[in-house]
Amino acid sequence: MTKAYAAQSATTQLGPFTFERRTVGPNDVQFEILYCGVCHSDLHQVRNEWKGTIYPIVPGHEIVGRVSAVGEQVTKFKTGDLAAVGCLVDSCRDCDNCKRGLEQFCRNGAIGTYNGKDKHTGGVTYGGYSKQMVVDEAFALQVSDKLPLETVAPLLCAGITTYSPLRHWKVGKGHKVAVLGLGGLGHMAVKFAASFGAEVTVLSTSP
Ligand SMILES: [Zn+2]
Ligand SMILES: [Zn+2]
Repeated sequence: MTKAYAAQSATTQLGPFTFERRTVGPNDVQFEILYCGVCHSDLHQVRNEWKGTIYPIVPGHEIVGRVSAVGEQVTKFKTGDLAAVGCLVDSCRDCDNCKRGLEQFCRNGAIGTYNGKDKHTGGVTYGGYSKQMVVDEAFALQVSDKLPLETVAPLLCAGITTYSPLRHWKVGKGHKVAVLGLGGLGHMAVKFAASFGAEVTVLSTSP
C-alpha cells in the first residue's frame, strides 16, 4: 500500500489516502518519494477548475526520490540512484512528436502524472503527494546527488516550463528579459535568465 494525500471532491481538502502502485514491470523504475513541489496546476485540478478531474485525485508533478527497485530491462537507473518525474509519465511513443523526443506534444495525448489514464492498470494515474512511485524509465530523469533535493523538485514543472522557452529563443548576454509576476514560475525565469547573462526585469501589477 502506498500512503498519499488525495482530494475526494472539488470542495474537500486533501486528506490521507492509500492505494496500490502497479508492480514493477521490465522497463519500470520504482522510487521512494523524498520531495514533491506544489504547483498551482495541482490546486486547479483538485478544485476541478479545468474540468475532467477524476476523484479521488492525488496531485503532484514535481517529484524527486531514491530508486528502490528496477525492472530487468532498465538501463538508466539502479537501486539507490536518485530519480525525478515531471508532468507526464507516458505517451503513444509512435507519433512524429514522440519520435522527435517531444512527448509533451504527443498527437494522441501525453499521459499526465496524475489524473491521466494509466496504460498499465487501466485506472487513473496518481501523482507525487505520495510515498512511492512506479514509472517507465523513459519518463524518469536522472538527478545528481550533489544537488539539494528540496530545490530540485520545482525544476520538474516550474523549472522546465521557464527553461524551455529561454533556451528555445537562445536568451543570453545582450538580451533583455521581462518576467510577468514573481511567482512559482517567475522566480525560476528570473534565476535562469540572469544566469544566462540577460538583463532581467520583473513586471508586477501590484501598487
Ligand atoms: Zn505544474
Ligand atoms: Zn505520441
